[in-house]
Amino acid sequence: MPLSQVIKRHADHPRRLAWISSAAGVAFFLLFSTITLFVIHHKRAQQHDRLANASKAYMQGIFNNLEKSLLPLLSYTRSDCQNVGNELTSRAAFTNGVRAILLVRDGNAWCSSAIGPFWLPVRNIAPALTLTLRRNVTLVAGTPMLPHQPAMLLWLQHPQRPNEGILTTLDINMTPLLLLAADQESVDEIAIAVGDNVLLTWNNQLISRTALHNAPLRQFTLPEYSLTFYMYGKALSARDISIVLLTGLLLAVVVASFCWLLFSLRLRPGKEILAGIKHNEFHVVYQPLIEATSGRVYGLEALLRWTHPVTGPIPPDAFISYAESQDMIVPLTRHLFKLVAQDAQLLCQHLPRGAVMGLNIAPGHLAAESFRQDVEEWIAAMPPEHFNYAFEITERTMVSGQSAAAVFDWLHDRHIAIAIDDFGTGHSALIYLEKFCFDYLKIDRGFVQSIGMETVTSPVLDAVLNLARKLNLNTVAEGVETEEQAAWLIKRGVTYMQGYLFSRPLPPTQLISFLQQQQASQP
Ligand code: C2E
Ligand code: CA
Ligand code: CA
Repeated sequence: MPLSQVIKRHADHPRRLAWISSAAGVAFFLLFSTITLFVIHHKRAQQHDRLANASKAYMQGIFNNLEKSLLPLLSYTRSDCQNVGNELTSRAAFTNGVRAILLVRDGNAWCSSAIGPFWLPVRNIAPALTLTLRRNVTLVAGTPMLPHQPAMLLWLQHPQRPNEGILTTLDINMTPLLLLAADQESVDEIAIAVGDNVLLTWNNQLISRTALHNAPLRQFTLPEYSLTFYMYGKALSARDISIVLLTGLLLAVVVASFCWLLFSLRLRPGKEILAGIKHNEFHVVYQPLIEATSGRVYGLEALLRWTHPVTGPIPPDAFISYAESQDMIVPLTRHLFKLVAQDAQLLCQHLPRGAVMGLNIAPGHLAAESFRQDVEEWIAAMPPEHFNYAFEITERTMVSGQSAAAVFDWLHDRHIAIAIDDFGTGHSALIYLEKFCFDYLKIDRGFVQSIGMETVTSPVLDAVLNLARKLNLNTVAEGVETEEQAAWLIKRGVTYMQGYLFSRPLPPTQLISFLQQQQASQP
């Protein structure tokens, strides 16, 4: 497998990435809009409460002032209109909101602050007004002086005499309330209702109570005057909603782009390997190398394993070539060195001095500047003078002739043996055998598996073994799975063998059990 489908799935899925990012954007949009609208709704409700309270206090204040100013006039209900006319006129002029003050006797208005003596039954001016009450308020579409201008009438009864008192026509000045309400976009109408009549303050229009919108935002009553105050509008204005949705949409685009960037960076090729190293997802298994003649374990081959947290084990063929293609093989091999050095502290207690520790070294690392230092640091971290070392390299490594020779010499100077891995799978292996000095020749398991099958490869294997003997090279047969293969190889003089027949690659603790069993069964 060239590159693990697992990694591919993670790294090469822009569509999946786009989906995740879009989902994050949509989730953000929904969350942001819901929370922001909820907060605005809550704030608006508080503002509406404040407005309702302020309005109630304002209305109450207006009526208190009116009564304070008008009640003294009750003593004039039996006076001569000529005598009190001036007093009425100046009181009307200096009392805020008053249009006219009328004196009433026996249910008839007989003296006006505006026109002086006149005569008109109160029921003609305000049919709904109840003169037997201490105070009463009503709304009218117009007054005799201003027939098309709605007004509020306030009746104040003489304490001792029914049907006698003061009737005041008021211009309902709601300007302060309207200004207050206008400051809040969500309030679009204020209404004052008395009996069946309702005054819409925004356009100063009198309508019937049945024509009123159904549910007000807030309402309050001044019980002494049977007056109800309504505030209409929406808890959330269309402007609020459109601003929140637009902002949410813009921010969602930013969030989605950020997610996309973050995921693309996180899943950048090679990053997975570094993350795997950081999160300790790699471990090493060891496969025993068996001496052909004695059947004893003479060494181990360390093989790296990667258990991905999401997708489980990833085949080494796949992640090694992936790491090579992403320039990650150097950090990965350094990590291998570190893991082997850790395991070796335990393994050395169960393996004889001189046991071979074989590591696979990728060509990319061999050619790296840091290679020599990495190796020296590794040797320094290994148990001192216990293991012999062998580096397994493939024929690919030898292509860059000169530099490879120098590295091989350097390794030999440090008593590190060199094994050609997968021998026979490359094209010009024989040329390299002449050119370089190797210590082991590892015969690819493809040859071993052909043993006893009468295929064209068996004579080649024969020839390879002969050649190795002539060149004084140790041979290691890989992938020995059957007794028949082992017997054939021993007969042909193979030096070492490795394969499932003896043991699979094992983690340190299982390997130690295997070694203990082996020792117990040896004569
Ligand atoms: P390789 O170096 O040829 O390693 C031997 C492979 O053969 C191992 O596969 C081992 O598990 C397998 N094997 C051993 N005995 C038998 C057997 O009897 N039958 C069969 N069918 N297979 C057997 P693994 O561990 O999957 O490794 C595959 C390849 O990945 C290795 O081939 C090597 O090229 C690479 N590799 C593994 N670990 C490392 C490492 O730490 N560094 C580098 N650079 N390459 C590594
Ligand atoms: Ca190998
Ligand atoms: Ca091999």
